[in-house]
Amino acid sequence: MGGIGSGRKNGGPLITDYQTIDVRVLQRRGVLTPGTLIGAHPRHETGELPPLQLQVGEDWIILTLRKRTGSPKAVECHNHIRLEHTPCNYGGNRPWFLCPCCSRRVALLYLGTTGYFACRRCRKLAYGSQRETEEGRALRKVSAIRKRLGWPPGVVRGHGERPKGMHRTTFRRLTELHDRYAAVVFEGLSARCDDIEEKISALGESLRRI
Ligand SMILES: [Zn+2]
Repeated sequence: MGGIGSGRKNGGPLITDYQTIDVRVLQRRGVLTPGTLIGAHPRHETGELPPLQLQVGEDWIILTLRKRTGSPKAVECHNHIRLEHTPCNYGGNRPWFLCPCCSRRVALLYLGTTGYFACRRCRKLAYGSQRETEEGRALRKVSAIRKRLGWPPGVVRGHGERPKGMHRTTFRRLTELHDRYAAVVFEGLSARCDDIEEKISALGESLRRI
């Protein structure tokens, strides 16, 4: 089994192979207050991680990692990451990282072997199998609902008519459910399109070099 990006066989490494920082976790722990300076020694199941320091400013953080290179002197990697805040529906605001590579607004950044963080797309991480299972399940739910409503198959076809004899409340409930599962499917498709787009542009790049 497995489709596009379902594992290492099909492309890049899986997300779970990388260490991540999550802006929401930092926010919850209250470390995003300007002036914060902490040293941390995070542990990872696969072994030791380089010591890490976190410094917080108004709209940026600096994550310093000491990367072991084999030589006696460890190399320091300074990750200067900009922060952005967007208002929440229920007041307050939520923070985002701006990816140091592409400036996309993201919640998660992944540590590369170079000692620097970047977003999922910049790291070109493939989708994990868990994610794929989730999308598969959503697609099956969409198909089942469409069948029950007598709509033509295919999530891209949109809504059909309310079947004769079906209660309006039932129809509304099923339509809402359909849209919720369809959103999961579309989200997955859009991530895959991004991956494909990146591959095409890389291909174009290498063709130009020939
Ligand atoms: Zn990026």
